[in-house]
Amino acid sequence: MMYYSTNGKAPEATLRKAVVNGLAEDRGLYMPRRIPRLPARFFEDMAQMSFQELSCAVADAFFGEDIPADDLHRIVQETLSFDCPTYQIEENIWVLELFHGPTLAFKDVGARFMARLLAYFSDNSPVNVLVATSGDTGSAVANGFLGVEGVRVFVLYPKGKVSPIQECQFTTLGQNITALEIDGCFDDCQALVKNAFMDADLRAKMKLTSANSINVARFLPQSFYYFNAVARLRRAGISEAPVICVPSGNFGNLCAALFAAEMGLPVKRFIAANNSNRVFYDFLQDGQYRPRPSIQTLANAMDVGDPSNFARIWELYGRDADAVRAHISGAVVDDKTIERTILECYSDTGYLLDPHGACGYRALKDGLRDGEKGIFCETAHPAKFLEKMEEITALEIDVPQRLAAFMKGTKQSVPLGKDYEGFRDYLVSSI
Ligand SMILES: *Cc1c(COP(=O)(O)O)cnc(C)c1O
Repeated sequence: MMYYSTNGKAPEATLRKAVVNGLAEDRGLYMPRRIPRLPARFFEDMAQMSFQELSCAVADAFFGEDIPADDLHRIVQETLSFDCPTYQIEENIWVLELFHGPTLAFKDVGARFMARLLAYFSDNSPVNVLVATSGDTGSAVANGFLGVEGVRVFVLYPKGKVSPIQECQFTTLGQNITALEIDGCFDDCQALVKNAFMDADLRAKMKLTSANSINVARFLPQSFYYFNAVARLRRAGISEAPVICVPSGNFGNLCAALFAAEMGLPVKRFIAANNSNRVFYDFLQDGQYRPRPSIQTLANAMDVGDPSNFARIWELYGRDADAVRAHISGAVVDDKTIERTILECYSDTGYLLDPHGACGYRALKDGLRDGEKGIFCETAHPAKFLEKMEEITALEIDVPQRLAAFMKGTKQSVPLGKDYEGFRDYLVSSI
């Protein structure tokens, strides 16, 4: 399969190049030249298939031409070392829980798959992954790459500006993961990473790559769990196509769901749930895409003012706003409504939402029409937002053991300034 750039000014790339480079030369996002449709038989059988079997079939369709089946299936099995279960919480509403991975957020699936694909494509010289993080991305990437041979990860994070739980999730790992505590803000971290990528001298010395969410190897595997969710509903006797509602920031997760539908997965329609960062919602109203600075909300992993995967959605629907609207509707859930929704859902159903899942639940519950059945994604475990959640609910929230284990580890990080020379010298000395 070849991959083209959404900006249309770069040569097509092989899977290997698309994964190793991340972004095309013209700064566009890579799109597969075609989206394979799975055969009718697959959909007849899917209710009987396991999560792993479904995922292998989806992976074969996308990556099977480029990676031998044995290797690809091993990568899928290793990625899915945890379940993504679906539960009914109301008459017409199911939750798809995506927080059972190592860092308790859905990014684990994409990060684990991408880590393994990158290792598969790396030759003898080790690949160095640089990732700047304001919190969640760093932990998912660091844990996804933990112990993967041939890959070293440097997580750059702003000193004193990530939550203690988040910090533990990438500073206590050791092995091939190094945390760099930058005396600056998130933008300084991002600038250091960008400078390193533009430094030809440095790149001649060490192979560098990025692991941000625009990588095809990070967003595409997220389609696995949508197949699994629909299969589980069928097994429970629900045969109609559900509405799928995805709490969205950079829109990688929703994009994977849209790809699943293009592959033939029966989905009635989609709802994109936003917090107060409403660029996509506003786009649906008037067809104008107007990026703007992000604002801080309770669902902070969705605080995105210029969602990078918008380019993929735009491309997928032929750059036609009506076509986008025909598949996806939008919703904006502000902080007050997030708080109210967490309380209301807990008292009505006993289900404890996190602030991101609360956006999804609210948008689905308000948007579901008569007779429709809907699934929303719960993208993180509520305990990841312990202080806020306890403040909102006045409940004592159970901290899962694997989250508590991170908090017991010893913090190891390298303090660095925000000047590029110091960062570069550190990288060179680490070779
Ligand atoms: C990253 C993230 C999101 C947003 O996902 P996108 O793919 O960027 O739209 C939602 N919830 C949580 C908990 C996240 O970490």
